[in-house]
Amino acid sequence: KKHVTILGVPFVYITKKQFLETVVYRSVEKQEKQMIVTANPEIVMYAQEDSNYKEIVSKADYVVADGIGIIIASKIIKKTLPERIPGFELVEEMLAYADKQKKSIYLFGAKESVLYKTVDNIKNSYPNLTIAGFHHGYIDSFDPTVINEVEETQPDFILVALGFPKQEEWIYENKSKLNKGIWVGVGGSFDVLAG
Ligand code: UDP
Repeated sequence: KKHVTILGVPFVYITKKQFLETVVYRSVEKQEKQMIVTANPEIVMYAQEDSNYKEIVSKADYVVADGIGIIIASKIIKKTLPERIPGFELVEEMLAYADKQKKSIYLFGAKESVLYKTVDNIKNSYPNLTIAGFHHGYIDSFDPTVINEVEETQPDFILVALGFPKQEEWIYENKSKLNKGIWVGVGGSFDVLAG
């Protein structure tokens, strides 16, 4: 994996298309587990103050450049990354793929009322994917309800919308319970999908 490290955060050197095809879709097909962090400048700056979070991000399988600020930073250090890979675009591509290939997703995060709308909208727009389960994001991070459900249903995608750093911390703590899955923190994506 080719990297560009910005303030200690290792960004994968790849285009969005290459990332989706060679990492995301291929891993789902091979049932390989991947933890993905979509890191924007806020995440990079926050990682400077929280060494535990920085370590979690560094240990992710892939950190992608979410936003133009990361591309600009890579230019400044003369290791220009190919392009930005916005988290929300990844979510849309993953949903389209899951629909096309009849894969399953688990949704964890956002307010309950928002999440219900998100689930409804996903069902309407992507009728061929399976929603393995969903849970709102206002429970204790040590509550085993969600990971137990994930373990039971073995989803192909585990989308975690708790905002950073919670979403990456939760993924890091829980992903060992499953041998597969694309685990990705998706920030405010459910709010957008709720409309
Ligand atoms: N959220 C949650 N549980 C929490 C805190 C936040 O589910 O304890 C949700 C919140 O409802 C929103 C998302 O996490 O849907 C955070 O979105 P934001 O845009 O703030 O995340 P960022 O993109 O900054 O990571």
